Amino acid sequence: MAKIVCVLYDDPIDGHPSTYARDAIPHITGYADGQTAPTPQAIDFTPGEMLGDVSGELGLRKFLEDRGHTLVVTSDKDGENSRFDQELHDADIVISQPFWPAYLTAERIAKAPKLKLALTAGIGSDHVDLQAAIDNNITVAEITYSNSISVAEHVVMMILGLVRNYLPSYQWVLKGGWNIADCVARSYDLEGMNVGTVAAGRIGLAVLRRLKPFEVNLHYTDRHRLSAEVEAELNLTWHPTVESLVSVCDVVTLNCPLHPETEHMIDDVMLTKMKRGTYLINTARGKLCDSDAIVRALESGQLAGYAGDVWFPQPAPKDHPWRSMPHHGMTPHISGTSLSAQARYSAGVREVLECWFDEKPIRNEYLIVDAGQLAGAGAHSYSKGNATSGSEEAAKFTKA
Ligand code: NDP
Repeated sequence: MAKIVCVLYDDPIDGHPSTYARDAIPHITGYADGQTAPTPQAIDFTPGEMLGDVSGELGLRKFLEDRGHTLVVTSDKDGENSRFDQELHDADIVISQPFWPAYLTAERIAKAPKLKLALTAGIGSDHVDLQAAIDNNITVAEITYSNSISVAEHVVMMILGLVRNYLPSYQWVLKGGWNIADCVARSYDLEGMNVGTVAAGRIGLAVLRRLKPFEVNLHYTDRHRLSAEVEAELNLTWHPTVESLVSVCDVVTLNCPLHPETEHMIDDVMLTKMKRGTYLINTARGKLCDSDAIVRALESGQLAGYAGDVWFPQPAPKDHPWRSMPHHGMTPHISGTSLSAQARYSAGVREVLECWFDEKPIRNEYLIVDAGQLAGAGAHSYSKGNATSGSEEAAKFTKA
């Protein structure tokens, strides 16, 4: 029988919800490229309920305990005395999520001799030292596509929020003001702007599709070029490099995974190649950017705004400079964990576990590392190596 250690974010401060704003969520059966949504044999939760917090347990407890397995769920993930660290010595499976990432570093993998499966409830397994997983024959899987559209919707919201100066204008309402000129002194229309995505995978392409009706000029760069049909349908301009893309765009959105090749892609040098007043949206991973360089660019006006939901480390310490930099629209890491997304990635986690215990193959598109090498989606989108260095800084966070 297996021991599964699952690290999830804390319940809401008022407790795990018992009622919800809506009675149901749309039933999504598939995605734009034909991939089907998760297909577990059964689920033990009601879609639309909170599943991603500690009490939600991804809806897994009954399923796992009925099969005789042991499930440990905790949010205590950082530092050597954390519950996560203490539970690793006999863990067979670790389930973690990017929003409140249990960093599975080489040191932690060395403490987990029985570990065979590291499963990400969501998309993005950069919080796992993939090189150590390769070296220790640990399978790494994630629920590809489960929250890609959730993020794409968030990106569109954040682009509009920055360009139209939504958050500062909302603040004037809360302050009792009616300060039109203060609100509009930094407010523009998106129409006619050049908008580019770094990476046109599931999220990047969905962002491009959603932006087309806004009558903007769409640009992208990616290691693999999209089909000529898609380029024509969306009237896309492809760029061979990130430098080329950012030099013409008014809005840049980052949608590639974090891996050694993309870490600190946006640094002081790259920022100087952008037009003055560029808006930068990053819902991919905090470490794609040099955080101090972003602050400098906002302070100098090189960037007109920066928004996103991803930080490094996570949770971000109270004194993280992105909490207080000018012209930002940051949220905690939430875009991929709406109640709608939780239902899909929880079902996907259940599907992977069913396959694992029944010794059936895991869908190729869910695999990142398998049999000692990058596999499936991982072989397509990641590079070998480790992007977890510095993650111990997450232990500095103290709860509000
Ligand atoms: P996909 O795998 O569908 O797309 C990733 C794309 O990035 C691929 O097209 C890949 O190109 C491209 N890419 C990889 N390396 C580079 C590079 N060096 N330069 C340019 N492009 C590159 O994943 P998704 O679109 O679903 O997700 C992307 C990322 O978004 C995730 O890895 C995760 O980090 C983040 N994410 C964030 C969430 C949130 O809640 N904020 C939730 C979900 C995801 P190719 O394959 O052609 O080589």
